[in-house]
Amino acid sequence: MHLDFSPEDLAFQREVRAFIAENYPETLRGKQDEGDELTKEDFLSWHRVLARKGWVAPAWPVEYGGTGWTATQKYIWSEETASADCIRLMPFGLSMVGPVIYTFGTPEQKARFLPGILSGGDWWCQGYSEPGSGSDLASLRTKAVLEGDEYVVNGQKTWTTMAQHADWGFFLVRTNPDAKQQEGISFLLIDMKSPGITVRPIITLGGEHEVNEVWLEDVRVPVNQRIFEENKGWTCAKFLLAHERTGIAGVAASKRGIEKVKTIARAEMDGDKPLIANPFFRRKIAELEMDLTALEYTELRSLAGESAGKGPGPESSLLKIKGSEIQQRLTELSLEAVGHYGAPYFRGFGEGDNEHPIGPDYAHRAAPTYFNTRKTTIYGGSNEIQRNIIAKMVLGL
Ligand SMILES: Cc1cc2nc3c(=O)[nH]c(=O)nc-3n(C[C@H](O)[C@H](O)[C@H](O)COP(=O)(O)OP(=O)(O)OC[C@H]3O[C@@H](n4cnc5c(N)ncnc54)[C@H](O)[C@@H]3O)c2cc1C
Repeated sequence: MHLDFSPEDLAFQREVRAFIAENYPETLRGKQDEGDELTKEDFLSWHRVLARKGWVAPAWPVEYGGTGWTATQKYIWSEETASADCIRLMPFGLSMVGPVIYTFGTPEQKARFLPGILSGGDWWCQGYSEPGSGSDLASLRTKAVLEGDEYVVNGQKTWTTMAQHADWGFFLVRTNPDAKQQEGISFLLIDMKSPGITVRPIITLGGEHEVNEVWLEDVRVPVNQRIFEENKGWTCAKFLLAHERTGIAGVAASKRGIEKVKTIARAEMDGDKPLIANPFFRRKIAELEMDLTALEYTELRSLAGESAGKGPGPESSLLKIKGSEIQQRLTELSLEAVGHYGAPYFRGFGEGDNEHPIGPDYAHRAAPTYFNTRKTTIYGGSNEIQRNIIAKMVLGL
């Protein structure tokens, strides 16, 4: 593994930096730093800039709109966008259903759905989990019955992220209740404006509306919106989960997060000295930084393997476990650093709140972000499930 960038990579890095400096939307600058909640329009404004440049889907094959970048260039891209604090694009179209459609879809399905994913014209959500079917996803019960050339879908999905904005959803449904669990599932694309769909908000600990329940009552879905064969949806589902896990380590974003914690610790006083001078606090930051560096090298090793033609293996589970734990520890340190200034914001600022913010600006999002980040060890396959994968695939237990 060579750790130095080649002259071509360094030139690419300069090009990326210049592009971000000139094109990152003015309205978004500093928004993440200040911890403002991001709107649909925020996500779309950066998405559209990248779509125009042809950089919105670096992971896709060039023939479908990808960039053709090497693994190192993709790494540089994620480093540069994180260090410039660019917002992350919504993954549901670009990283999840897009790859499923170009891999398993018919030419008509590719022509119909890929352009909207690339342009940002269609906002997607993921209808996998159900009450009672999360880790044990194959037990899902939402059923679809074929009537003529339409499926009639009934059931309930849950934890559906950003479904309140979605134009389309990709859903796992049971089409054969008599087959073995994994063998009776199909993968449907459903127009979220279809009659019979109800989206109900779930408000999270941090006071945010990010996840939803989605109810489906006699929703009619044309059969040409099924991807791949009937009852073979599990193949698409597994393929998609592998894509969901890549990039989940979030190394570049955590590096920036550590710098933010240091900034807070320099500004906050611990007695007559800045908090950063407190040896116990310094030690926590140093431990986190060491773990993050170790994670970064594991990710680089994985990237080197990818460049050599090896697909993502069970090490993606390791990246998920360590990456998500580091993200959580970062938010714990931020909350500790802001101390009592964090307390008034345990529920975040609600719509219509007219109270004056208390304490420095950086304190306002510490508590909601701390609560929100509890999710990282649950979604994308919980960390316990990732440990099971490592036990089986790596340790042979
Ligand atoms: C913020 C957030 C956003 C989400 N967004 C989406 C979305 O957009 N679309 C979607 O479909 N889903 C989404 N999910 C759902 C997510 O995929 C599930 O929450 C996750 O798979 C866990 O399932 P569960 O919540 O049913 O927990 P369960 O599967 O019931 O697990 C409960 C606990 O038991 C442990 N456990 C379960 N089985 C085992 C086992 N075999 N061995 C050891 N431990 C085990 C788990 O690790 C967990 O700690 C989201 C979840 C969150 C928190």
